Amino acid sequence: MNFASDNAYGAAPQILAALSAANNGTETSYGEDAVTARVTGKLTALFEHAIAVFPVVTGTAANSLALATLCPPYGAVFCHRESHIAVDECAAPEFFTGGAKLVHLDGEDGKITPAAIAAMLPHYARGVHSPKPAVVSITQASEVGTIYSVAEIRAIADAAHNSGMTLHMDGARFANALVTLGCTPAEMTWKAGVDALSFGATKNGALCAEAVIFFDTAHTQAFEYRRKKAGHLVSKMRFISAQLDAYLENDLWLSNARRANALARRLGDGLAALPGVTLAGPVEANGVFAWMPKPVAARLRERGAKFYDWAQEPERVMVRLVVSFATPEADVAKFIETAKG
Ligand SMILES: *Cc1c(COP(=O)(O)O)cnc(C)c1O
Repeated sequence: MNFASDNAYGAAPQILAALSAANNGTETSYGEDAVTARVTGKLTALFEHAIAVFPVVTGTAANSLALATLCPPYGAVFCHRESHIAVDECAAPEFFTGGAKLVHLDGEDGKITPAAIAAMLPHYARGVHSPKPAVVSITQASEVGTIYSVAEIRAIADAAHNSGMTLHMDGARFANALVTLGCTPAEMTWKAGVDALSFGATKNGALCAEAVIFFDTAHTQAFEYRRKKAGHLVSKMRFISAQLDAYLENDLWLSNARRANALARRLGDGLAALPGVTLAGPVEANGVFAWMPKPVAARLRERGAKFYDWAQEPERVMVRLVVSFATPEADVAKFIETAKG
C-alpha cells in the first residue's frame, strides 16, 4: 500500500517498450533525431498552436529553465507559498534565473488568486529598489490535489498580463487536471493565457521525461542555450523523447490519469465515510488529503502502508495519499479496510 507519491511507482510498460524500440540503429544526437521531431509534431497538434518543445529529465529542470527564460535576474516570480518551485526545488529557480526573487502568495486549496497578485504588486513597485514583477507561476493540478478551472486560469493570466507579467504553469500533473476539467490542452493553456508550460510525464508513467513548452516560439534560442548550459541537453535525446512519444500515443497519458483520478476518488469516498475521518479538501485529481485519528494512521503504517503526514493536531493527523497510474485497486480497498479497523 504505497501512497507516498505517484513517483513511487515504476514506468508504464508501453513506455519501456518504446525505449527498447528506440534502441535500434543510429540517430542524430542532441535532439536532432526523428523521435524528438515526432514528439514536437504530436504536441503541436495536441495544443493546436505553434509551440517550442524542449524535453528535459526532471520537473525541477523544466520549471527552473522555463522561469529563467521568462524572468530576468532582477525579476520576481509570484507563486503559491506551498508551490513546488517555492519549497521543493532547492532554490533552483532562483539559481537558474540568476537570482530572481520568488514571492510567496497565500491562497485557499493550494491556489493563488488575482486578488492575491493585486495585493502583492504594490510591494514590488519601488522602481529599481524592488525586483520587477515578471512571472506568475501556477501549479495544475496543485500541490494539494486541487485544480484551477479554466476561468480561474484566465483571470490569473489577465491579472499577470495587465501588470506586464507572463504566466507559467507547472504541469507536473497536467494530465490529471486535464481529464478532470474535460477540456482541451489548448483551453487549459494558451487559450486561457498561459505563456509557458512544464508538461509533466514522469509522475504519470514515464521514467524521466518532462517537456518545456513555450506558446511563443521567440523564446527558442534563449531556452536552448540555457538548457545546454545547465547540463540538460541530453545527447541521446531519442530516449527521452521516446518516453514522451509513447506517453502521447493512443492517449496513454489520458487513460493513466483517468485511472489514477478514479482510484483517488474511490479512496477519498471510502475514507470520508469512516468515523473520525474527514477530507481536508476536495479530491479533484490523484491526491487525497485526509484528517484521521492518530491511532488510525499508526495502524495503517503497522500494516505496511506508506504515506506522508501533512499537518498535525494533538489528536489527529492530516495525511497525504497520492494514487498513481499503476496503484493496484486492491491496495485502495485494503487501505480503506485497514483504516476501518
Ligand atoms: C514532482 C513535481 C515536480 C517535478 O519534480 P522533480 O522531482 O524535479 O522531477 C514539479 N512540480 C510539482 C508540483 C511536482 O509535484
